[in-house]
Amino acid sequence: MSETPEKINLLGLSPEKMEAFFADLGEKKFRAQQILKWIHQFGEANFDNMTNMSKGLRAKMADVAEIALPEVVYEDFSADGTRKWVMKMPGGSAVETVYIPEKDRGTLCVSSQIGCSLDYSFCSTGKQGFNRDLTVAEIIGQVYVAAMSFHEPGERRERRITNVVMMGMGEPLLNFDNVVDAMQLMMDDNAYGLSKRRVTLSTSGVVPMLDKLGEVIDVSLAVSLHAPNDELRNELVPLNRKYPIRELIDATNRYLSKLPDRRKATIEYTLIDGVNDDIEQARELSQLLKQVPCKINLIPFNPFPNSGYKRPSNNRVYRFRDQLINDGHIVTIRSTRGDDIDAACGQLVGKVADRTRRSERYIKAVQVNS
Ligand code: SAH
Repeated sequence: MSETPEKINLLGLSPEKMEAFFADLGEKKFRAQQILKWIHQFGEANFDNMTNMSKGLRAKMADVAEIALPEVVYEDFSADGTRKWVMKMPGGSAVETVYIPEKDRGTLCVSSQIGCSLDYSFCSTGKQGFNRDLTVAEIIGQVYVAAMSFHEPGERRERRITNVVMMGMGEPLLNFDNVVDAMQLMMDDNAYGLSKRRVTLSTSGVVPMLDKLGEVIDVSLAVSLHAPNDELRNELVPLNRKYPIRELIDATNRYLSKLPDRRKATIEYTLIDGVNDDIEQARELSQLLKQVPCKINLIPFNPFPNSGYKRPSNNRVYRFRDQLINDGHIVTIRSTRGDDIDAACGQLVGKVADRTRRSERYIKAVQVNS
């Protein structure tokens, strides 16, 4: 007796893969567009309600496929309007997604992995260790859940989400294929219809993957730099030992040059008191970034227990910013949003079933030091 094969989760099929799915069923391409709309725009997870498909086709789909959604286990609202969802993924780990409303836009911060393997010294996600990559369904499922939370049943969803940033847990370029498929869905008119300028991938600089990204998709890019020289960056972002700053900057420029418009990269720089926030370091950063079309986003460090780091005073933050502006750069300071619900950058931890035992080592080290 043969076992029943596992059903395909249609939530996680990119537009291209959805077309292939219908081709396999002997159906025309436009079926893919219809079902993408049902799932991502109407939030419909029951084939029986998809009334523009014949009963026969609905039965055929139900035989081989399903629409399985991530389970929301917890939801929180910050006093400033920021929302956070904790979603449970198969295997028991949890992932966090954050929605940040602003005057003229609503940004969703999406996770790409459960935990993170990069071990930044100042990121609490990294301190939790790494468990696994998220599937396409789990990545786009975060957008689905957030989008549907603003929507009345039976109606087309409202467009409250105008921007998506892949800046939640994980390094998106280390989960390349799944992240690319999920971003295709974010930009597809039958799904979320976001413009390529409003979907941003944030990376610590996995150089070969950045080159590959430029070959397959056109999205906006954010690069997590955090230090103006290799010596300091090696310490803060250990990945730098593999792909030093020079290589990262060249790859960033190569990526930008492939885009059809003159888009700038965002350079993210987390400011940590007494570590990378000195005026000399601002000058060094200015010099380094002269060769990159970019805007610089300064992120004052968001503390978490036992990190050993401090957020600089506002004065130091402004001094650093003003130096960069004097040197001719475009600079913004990321306002801290949602920190009352632990939703700010670097505070997303979920509950990671760590496979690297890093969290154990970290906890031991903290116990020894405190
Ligand atoms: N791995 C990707 C995306 C996730 S992190 C990347 O590195 O870009 C998103 C941003 O938050 C990164 O720039 C990261 O450096 C920053 N960040 C991490 N921990 C932080 C903290 N405690 N305070 C402020 N920013 C932090």
